Amino acid sequence: MKSLDSFARTKLTALSDRGLKRDIVTTERREANHTLRQGRHLISFCCNDYLNLSHHPKVRQAAKDAIDHYGAGAGASRLVTGSHPLIRELEQRLAAIKGTEDACVFSSGYMANIGIIPTLVSTADVIFIDELSHACLQAGSQLSSANIIRFHHNDVSQLRELVRQHRGDYRRAMIITDGVFSMDGDLAPLDRLSRIATDTDCWLMSDDAHGFGVIGTDMKGSRHMFSPLPDIPLQMGTLSKAIGSFGGYLCASKVVTALVKTRARSLIYTTALPPASAAAALAALDIITTDPDYCRRPMKNARVFAQLLGLAAPESPIIPIIIGETKKVMDYAALLEQDGFLITGIRPPTVAEGTARLRLTFCAQHKEEDIHALVAAIKHHGIV
Ligand SMILES: *Cc1c(COP(=O)(O)O)cnc(C)c1O
Repeated sequence: MKSLDSFARTKLTALSDRGLKRDIVTTERREANHTLRQGRHLISFCCNDYLNLSHHPKVRQAAKDAIDHYGAGAGASRLVTGSHPLIRELEQRLAAIKGTEDACVFSSGYMANIGIIPTLVSTADVIFIDELSHACLQAGSQLSSANIIRFHHNDVSQLRELVRQHRGDYRRAMIITDGVFSMDGDLAPLDRLSRIATDTDCWLMSDDAHGFGVIGTDMKGSRHMFSPLPDIPLQMGTLSKAIGSFGGYLCASKVVTALVKTRARSLIYTTALPPASAAAALAALDIITTDPDYCRRPMKNARVFAQLLGLAAPESPIIPIIIGETKKVMDYAALLEQDGFLITGIRPPTVAEGTARLRLTFCAQHKEEDIHALVAAIKHHGIV
């Protein structure tokens, strides 16, 4: 179709002119943050595999064994072929760790968020959502057709005021936030959000994609950074980051997970998680629940980096260096790549206009000498 290609070309050219065309570069991801791109070895400081568990021998072996026993694919939706025993075991393990009655495993974190939210709220309802919440929380909110009210990032007093003004106009209500913000690395004030939610009959949902495995008591995630533990009836997360595998989950009460399994379209109408991914996640959970010292390493590395550059103490293994201008960020990323570091520039619309940034993530197997070399390069180019 001529008009189709011509539309795509015009659109791409316009994006390209603003430095917003994105290219997916073929890059091999090897062990211990080593990557191979266009024939060059780079050390990655942008991966979410915080514990490097995707390459852990026990995790790999569990995935291989599952493929040998059960094959490579799941065959159909869990509601058609029945749930794989490994997926059910995974749900029980996640619920036990997170301290909820039950859990529901999805094929990814994105699938979880676009399935959970529309199951719980619709047109007569309202969602109060932190403006910096992950794209898939925003997408799930839009799909639900509920009225969406955004509050300023982590602004608890604004949220309290908005809830006071608007809660009464609606039937059901949710408050939605990242636990650890994916592009900023800071924590949500889950204790205070939980208090507002409890006082006003709003259902609090937190997305712990970047918390579980790396922060909180026993590495149980962002909720476990607070004492007493805040009440969060909807605890969502992913198996694709610190867990090193693939998939998403919701930990909640029995009745809520039962409703989600009956109604969430992104669970019902998509193929289940491959058995190998469930097996890998289970093996990773064994490591996370038994080796807290290893799990503390990403935070330790992030602290070393921040200290060397005089940056504020990090709250998670994610450290943003906000540059502002899109083109400048991409130039800095290219300079660091020449020095042997893989750090992708993050641009609008992933982050707000004027806040383009380098987003660094620290992992368990980063070596102290690599962090020192990175800091030297960042100083040398005058980035910080
Ligand atoms: C990565 C991410 C997701 C999506 O999880 P996937 O399993 O990768 O689909 C959801 N929420 C947040 C905050 C994330 O960073």
